[in-house]
Amino acid sequence: MQEFKDKVVLVTGSSRGIGRSTAIAFAKEGANVIINYKSNDIDASIAYDVVSSYGNKCLCIKADVSNEKAVIGMLDTIIKEYGKIDILVNNAGIALDAEFEDKTTSIWKKTLSTNVLGPFLTSKYIGKIMMEQKYGKIINISSTNGINTTYPYSVDYDASKAALINLTKNLAIQFAPYVNVNSVAPGWVDTPMNAELSKSYLREEKEKILLKRFAEPEEIANVVLFLASDKSKYITSEIITVSGGL
Ligand code: NAD
Repeated sequence: MQEFKDKVVLVTGSSRGIGRSTAIAFAKEGANVIINYKSNDIDASIAYDVVSSYGNKCLCIKADVSNEKAVIGMLDTIIKEYGKIDILVNNAGIALDAEFEDKTTSIWKKTLSTNVLGPFLTSKYIGKIMMEQKYGKIINISSTNGINTTYPYSVDYDASKAALINLTKNLAIQFAPYVNVNSVAPGWVDTPMNAELSKSYLREEKEKILLKRFAEPEEIANVVLFLASDKSKYITSEIITVSGGL
């Protein structure tokens, strides 16, 4: 029996990394998955091929989550196609690492727009539909950087992830009692987001992790699926850290 059969799931930022693994995990469990991405059409078509290979009704929508019109357009397409939306995973995120002195207004605005405004916009519109349905799950992918692993060169990213944790708690109030809103806070995960960091720095970071390795994206997806499932239906407004003991 597939756990998410006939559920409609939007995973933002699912052309690669954690988002793609999450989209695949939902598709394996019978869900109709909507892949969303910002710009890389090749990554998106690879993700679409894998997700649609499980035989469910899959869509791939290019839309910048920080652009309100694009979010509304994406939602219109989803509702036209499926008539409902059960699960929203706010995964799209960017990290624009730079020396503290080089952090500009433009960098801050880009980071906050994608990592905080984006999840706010998707949740605002989709949460309303979930309330009308009297059913919904929202899972926000924050980070341990929003809790206790802060670094000056990711000052804007760290603030954005702390804001996303706060947003999770406000959304849980706003959409109670029908929508469970929770957050997964990963530590280090092996994805393209970290591909340009130096090998020596990554080695040092691994040493700080009790399990001595980064997470595989699937290990984050597993926790997202748990939070989207009935097994966790009494959990809302929580932040679950998945960091290997960082
Ligand atoms: P990634 O860079 O590999 O993938 C990011 C995805 O987000 C891509 O599909 C990209 O198209 C999409 N995206 C970026 N901006 C977007 C926008 N404005 N609109 C729509 N889509 C957009 O990243 P990842 O490592 O898989 O990270 C996924 C999430 O997990 C992010 O929110 C990230 O902050 C968080 N996270 C990652 C790590 C890690 O170590 N990789 C750790 C903690 C938290």
